[in-house]
Amino acid sequence: MKIDHSSPKIAIIGGGIAGATAATYLANLGLNITLIEKGPSLVNGPPICHLHAGGNLYREIDTQQCITLLRQSIDTLKLYPACADYRPTVIAIPKRDPGCFNDLKPRLNQLQYHYQLLVDQDSTNKVLGEPSEYFTTYSKEDVERLATQEIVEQPKTKDDWLIPVAKTLDLDKLKFPLVMVQEYGLNVFRLAASATLTTAQQPTCQVLTGTTVTTIKKVNGVWQVTLDNNGKLTDTTFDYIVNAGGYKSGAIDDLVGCYTKRLVEFKAAYVTQWNHNLGQFPEVIFYGERGTPNGMAQLTPYPNGYFQIHGMTKDITLFEDGLVNNNTQSAQPNLPKELSDKIVNQWPDDVAIHRTQRSIDFMAHFIPSFDEALVGGKPLFGAQQIPGKDPDLRASDVDFPVKNYARSEIVKASSAIDAAELIYNNICTVFDLKIKAADISTNINLTLSEQDISSTAQKLAIARDYPVSLADRVVG
Ligand SMILES: Cc1cc2nc3c(=O)[nH]c(=O)nc-3n(C[C@H](O)[C@H](O)[C@H](O)COP(=O)(O)OP(=O)(O)OC[C@H]3O[C@@H](n4cnc5c(N)ncnc54)[C@H](O)[C@@H]3O)c2cc1C
Repeated sequence: MKIDHSSPKIAIIGGGIAGATAATYLANLGLNITLIEKGPSLVNGPPICHLHAGGNLYREIDTQQCITLLRQSIDTLKLYPACADYRPTVIAIPKRDPGCFNDLKPRLNQLQYHYQLLVDQDSTNKVLGEPSEYFTTYSKEDVERLATQEIVEQPKTKDDWLIPVAKTLDLDKLKFPLVMVQEYGLNVFRLAASATLTTAQQPTCQVLTGTTVTTIKKVNGVWQVTLDNNGKLTDTTFDYIVNAGGYKSGAIDDLVGCYTKRLVEFKAAYVTQWNHNLGQFPEVIFYGERGTPNGMAQLTPYPNGYFQIHGMTKDITLFEDGLVNNNTQSAQPNLPKELSDKIVNQWPDDVAIHRTQRSIDFMAHFIPSFDEALVGGKPLFGAQQIPGKDPDLRASDVDFPVKNYARSEIVKASSAIDAAELIYNNICTVFDLKIKAADISTNINLTLSEQDISSTAQKLAIARDYPVSLADRVVG
């Protein structure tokens, strides 16, 4: 069969943030896209709550990855401006941790310098505030002074944001200074809403939810793909395939007959509700060594007293045998049955409640009044893929192991745009297309209204059995 070079048929397998962003990007250029998602809706996989504009949540990663995440996060804010929570992140180093501020400072300076460079290159990159204010430090005396001030219901300044934290932290457990950095949140329900609404508006993008790719064969130079929709099997052909299968990318590689090494990690975050009268909180993170009983603790705010907690220990966010690699027979790493069952069948209630309570206790070590928080909903959880063998890899994108096949493997949502651009370049090369990459961020902003995103995000939160407040924005 001869490929129609003017309009290749492109299948994107997986409607997570990687697949949905690639679909949006490529359909925006007029390419013929079929986005195939086995779940009931788009961006329905593991949670996405932090933008990672500088990778400051990860002390262990190298500065170059942090700079890449910074640039990618700026692009993400420009493409999905209505999906971010514009609140800062406070970083605290516990006394029980061996680190100190001087270990962080060179990297923070580098990030500030690179943010300034990006803004100098293009003023529309100034989406994280003034580069000179990318990070700010607070001494113990500063924090004690702020603890005496009135709560500001709609925080505007950095000091406003720090007041509720200053009033509740156990200062004796921490080293100083604290750092406040312009790292914002990302809202997975709003990303899902944006992806749903955008792809629905794109005439050359067909979205097939509830549809699983079960076989892939190369026949006469084109891909023959079997789709399973509720037991109804159909065969269809595509000129190009994008594997955006998330933690199941290896299973799609197996169907294609490609082998590579990768890791899969199962993790969970916990939904709590804390009735306080302290206004709007920023994100607060307490550094710790991953996997030890004193791993990092992360408090992520949502409206109406909801907080999401990560505790980087094996009995909260991480799991025994939760990080697995593949063997030489298959490109797909296999999680222990107990964990893959959680993805497919949800969690037993008692396990969910027990782990959520542990997360509350973990946070109360630093914020004693947080011990009044209650279980606020079911955990946010899932498995994520990490290409290669390095579990600390955070900035990754796409590779092209065989002709007309892209393997998009991102670790962080912000990398989705880089991956989409690289796929676009590869498609242009393979099919000798001369399409000019347009400014998609402008086009997409023009078509979505805040009201549509909010109401769609709320409906998705309800359909997924989460509190509706998790779909709402933290607004400073
Ligand atoms: C607890 C936790 C917290 C996280 N927090 C953050 C965060 O704060 N910020 C951040 O950036 N990242 C975070 N991540 C990572 C982030 O969730 C993932 O990296 C991201 O979702 C990957 O997106 P994706 O599109 O590649 O994969 P996915 O979102 O997993 O999407 C892949 C899709 O492919 C579909 N699929 C698979 N196989 C098939 C098939 N055969 N046929 C049809 N469809 C198929 C799946 O149903 C799925 O919807 C977190 C991960 C976890 C586990």
